[in-house]
Amino acid sequence: MPDSPMAPPPAMRLRVDSGAISDNWRTLDAMSGTARAAAAVKADAYGVGIDRAMPTLLDAGCRDFYVAHWCEVAGAIRHAAPENVAVLHGPITQADCEYARQTGVRPVLNSLAQVGLWQSTGGGPCDLMVDSGMNRLGLRPDELGDPALAGLEVITFMSHLACADEDSAMNGRQRDLFASLLAAVPHRRASLANSAGIALGAGFQHDLTRPGVALYGGVVRSELVGKIRPVVGLEAALIQVRTVPAGETVGYGAAFTAQRDTRVGIVSLGYADGYLRCWSDVGVFRSGNAPLPVLGRVSMDMTAIDLSSAPDLAEGDWVSAEYDLPTAAQRSGLTQYELLTVLGPRLRA
Ligand SMILES: *Cc1c(COP(=O)(O)O)cnc(C)c1O
Repeated sequence: MPDSPMAPPPAMRLRVDSGAISDNWRTLDAMSGTARAAAAVKADAYGVGIDRAMPTLLDAGCRDFYVAHWCEVAGAIRHAAPENVAVLHGPITQADCEYARQTGVRPVLNSLAQVGLWQSTGGGPCDLMVDSGMNRLGLRPDELGDPALAGLEVITFMSHLACADEDSAMNGRQRDLFASLLAAVPHRRASLANSAGIALGAGFQHDLTRPGVALYGGVVRSELVGKIRPVVGLEAALIQVRTVPAGETVGYGAAFTAQRDTRVGIVSLGYADGYLRCWSDVGVFRSGNAPLPVLGRVSMDMTAIDLSSAPDLAEGDWVSAEYDLPTAAQRSGLTQYELLTVLGPRLRA
C-alpha cells in the first residue's frame, strides 16, 4: 500500500491551554481540603481531548480518573494505571465484567443487579454508588444492607449531587444523608463532590472529590470565579474574503442583508465542529481586539463574519471565536457542559 501523504494542518483548531488544566486541577485539589481531587475524563475529557488532558493531569499530580463508558477505558489506560480508572456506568453484561478484569479497571456498581453481576463473575475491587436523592444511578439507601453486598471490595463509596451549582436545600440533605450512610458499607474512601460540590466546602469533600467541568474551564459556582482559568479557544482561518454590495444577502436562508457594502470573511468553522447554529447572528469572532460579528446563519463547515472593524484581514488569516464559557452559556442558553462537549472531533484532527 502506498503511504498516504501527510495532510497539511487543518484550517481550524481547538486551542487547549494545558497549563490552565494543571492550574485548575491544583486549585480544585487545594479547595478539596484534606481530600484528593480525581478527574472526570469522560466524553473525551469533555471535548478537550483525553490525550491532551490526561498527561497534563497526571503531571499535575492527579491519580484517579473516571470515564462513563467501557469504550472510553482504552483511552484512559493509555495514560493512567488501570487500577486508578473507574467506569461510572458500571457493568450491564458479563462481557463488561470480563473487560474490567482483562484491563484491570474498576466498575462503579450502581444497582443490586450490577452488584450481583460483578459478584457472580468473581467480584474484586469496585466502586459503589448510592443514590442520595438524584434518582439517576445508584443503590437506594435501604438496599445497602442487602446480603449481596457482603464481601464486596469497595474502594470508593460515592454519591452524586443533583443541585451543587445552585444554592439549594437539596445540597445539605444529600450531604447529611450520605454522611449517615458511610458506616453501612465498608470502604477505603468516600466521595460526594463534583466541581460545584467542591465549592460547597467542608462536609462535601470526604476523601476524594470528582471534578470534571471546572478542570476544563467551567465556572459553575460564584466561588470559582477568578480561580478557574479558561482552557479552550476556537480558532479558524478565513478561507474567503469578499465585499457584499448593499442590499445583497449572506448565507442560508438569506438571513443577513447588507445595509451597506460590507467586507465579509468566510471562516472555516461550523456546526459540525461544534460551533453551533445558536451562534447565528449572535456569535462574535476576534482578530486582536477587533470584534467580528457573525452574519446570518452558521453553516455546517463555515461561518460568515463582518470584517468592517479589521478591513485588512485577508484569506489565510486566522481569527478566534469568543468562547468564554460562562459568558457563552449566558448568551446561548446552553450550559457550559454542552458548550465544551460539542467541540467536534474534526477540531481535534
Ligand atoms: C460527570 C460526573 C462528575 C463530574 O461532574 P462535574 O459537574 O463535571 O464536575 C462527577 N461524578 C459523577 C458521578 C459524574 O457523572
